Amino acid sequence: MGSNGIRRYGLYIGGRWVAAAGAEVFPVHNPATGEVVGEVADARAADAVQAVTAAVEAFPAWAARPAKERSEVLRRAYDLMLAHRDELAELMTREQGKPLEEARGEVQYAADFVLWNSEEAKRVYGETIPASHADKRLLALRQPVGVVAAITPWNFPAAMITRKIGPALAAGCTVIVKPAEQTPLTACRLAELFAEAGLPAGALNVVPTTRPEEVADALLADTRVRKLTFTGSTGVGKILMRKAADTVKRVSLELGGHAPFLVFDDADVERAAREVAASKFRNAGQTCVCTNRVYVHERIADAFTAALADVVRGLKVGNGLEPGVQIGPLIDGQAADKVERHVRDALAKGARLALGGQRRSDSARGVHFFEPTILCNVTDDMVIMQEETFGPVVPVQVFRTEEEAVAKANRTPYGLAAYLYTRDLSRAIRVSEQLEYGIVGVNDGLPSVAQAPFGGFKESGIGREGGKYGMEEYLEIKYVSIRL
Ligand code: ADP
Repeated sequence: MGSNGIRRYGLYIGGRWVAAAGAEVFPVHNPATGEVVGEVADARAADAVQAVTAAVEAFPAWAARPAKERSEVLRRAYDLMLAHRDELAELMTREQGKPLEEARGEVQYAADFVLWNSEEAKRVYGETIPASHADKRLLALRQPVGVVAAITPWNFPAAMITRKIGPALAAGCTVIVKPAEQTPLTACRLAELFAEAGLPAGALNVVPTTRPEEVADALLADTRVRKLTFTGSTGVGKILMRKAADTVKRVSLELGGHAPFLVFDDADVERAAREVAASKFRNAGQTCVCTNRVYVHERIADAFTAALADVVRGLKVGNGLEPGVQIGPLIDGQAADKVERHVRDALAKGARLALGGQRRSDSARGVHFFEPTILCNVTDDMVIMQEETFGPVVPVQVFRTEEEAVAKANRTPYGLAAYLYTRDLSRAIRVSEQLEYGIVGVNDGLPSVAQAPFGGFKESGIGREGGKYGMEEYLEIKYVSIRL
């Protein structure tokens, strides 16, 4: 920590904080105020290669450590994260903007992935397989994949990292994390806490950079890196998947979403409105599982929209460090431009503004807020019904039949999260089964937890994070045939 409250970090390679090869650094800004809150080393390709070397050197010893010992290190890391919960939360709010209460929630959520995987580390079982010959014994072993490159986004500066390093380190892999350029401070602070927990040098390396493509290219071209795990946009995910193909790396991708929320006519409209708001406005709408489209049955459309407006009207917008604030800033001007474009397009095509709609930008300081917004009379041709908005805007469209609602929900290349609200059990089961989504929340706008599988169908990704499924992504299966 600098004297003026500015955090300074180098690159974390091989257990040491080092300057970048080019000696360059870059500032980290608070999106709520524009203030500089940190300064970190700016990695180049050469630094990425150094980090790979450190991870390669650390791998054999870490993989060979008894699972119980790896488990204990992760358990201590979990304890340290919770012991520093307030500090980590404040750091996250300062570099990312989410309200402090949400940041505290993220620290718990992020730490839960470390705890779950510390427990799961002890349960990486193999199998014996019945042989066809009396003199043979067949074994299936599970071994760590090797060195992992993890590229993470800014919207959950802690959790998107622990979801990856939790299972990777538990499995015995070593990791290079390239955090998002907007939020490298949380990543660096986590590296310090994991070191304090006893993680050996080189098992976790962190290389912040303003040149993500250059650093990612170096990581992906390196044959020593055996796996890529990425959370971010579908566009970048596709590029990385193509590049990973050259060295046939294992790939896990958590990409964009376009979550529908279906509200059926038997729903309790007030409760449904609260769930929609919870799912939509978390992190100012900047999550890949945020509701992006609401489809409500025509019979309850007016009552539901009024109930939603009542919930949303009370949401306080502002600096996430101030008490009571529920909607923080958008991450940057581009994000605000996109939200504004979606709202304008909808209004131009006949949508009605039921609430909000205004952008509040101070471009000189790089500060961008957007009022929580509800759009009614929305139709399929509006951009907001086709693209991920990543902002606090909820478009509401009316439907008449269950078949129509499901067809509309599925009419997208995305397949991450979908939600429905109904009190009819048969409908809940029928619709959940028909939705082409990796995650379905039934009467539940916030389904994600460390012990459950999180991931997408279709262009929303490959692989799962969370629970026993998350660990599988970091394990290879080895078949051993023994003749006696
Ligand atoms: P978002 O829209 O959430 O910022 P991105 O996909 O742009 O999503 O960013 C997610 C992560 O991918 C960040 O760590 C970012 O630095 C990285 N990234 C962005 N562009 C590229 C690229 N061309 N190659 C490799 N990584 C990239």
